[in-house]
Amino acid sequence: MLKNWKYWGYFAVKAMAAAGLVWALLQGLNVWMPEPGIVAGQYRLNRFAQHLPWTAAFLGVWLVAAGLIYVAIWDQKQRCRVCLRRLRMPVGSGSWDRAALFSPPETQRICPYGHGTLATPEAHVAAAQRETWTVHEDIWKELKELEGREP
Ligand SMILES: [Zn+2]
Repeated sequence: MLKNWKYWGYFAVKAMAAAGLVWALLQGLNVWMPEPGIVAGQYRLNRFAQHLPWTAAFLGVWLVAAGLIYVAIWDQKQRCRVCLRRLRMPVGSGSWDRAALFSPPETQRICPYGHGTLATPEAHVAAAQRETWTVHEDIWKELKELEGREP
């Protein structure tokens, strides 16, 4: 069974909504600029790359689709894996002068309800570094454990 079904289900709904919007844009484009019916000999030419206004509009729709995919993925990375709320309170750690080995800079964001923390590496030295999601079992229990300690 999929562990974070709510998280991935939300992404699937966003992706389907984006696909529906792009499909509606393409249908509107076909209504706005119907097939010109260019015939060369016995072949009917495809209007892509033959009809400049339609081709430009089609590429505009493609650009909107790429932007929607980017925004959907960017928004999904900013959300809690459990409750889907936006992660908050960004805290930077590490340093840029020791980024290669010892203390790579990263930004941590936490769920406002304490479900987990997302650590996003800022320095990609040899390859793109992956984000890591750390689950908090019970944030109140952790706070109570820290309560008795001296700083
Ligand atoms: Zn949460």
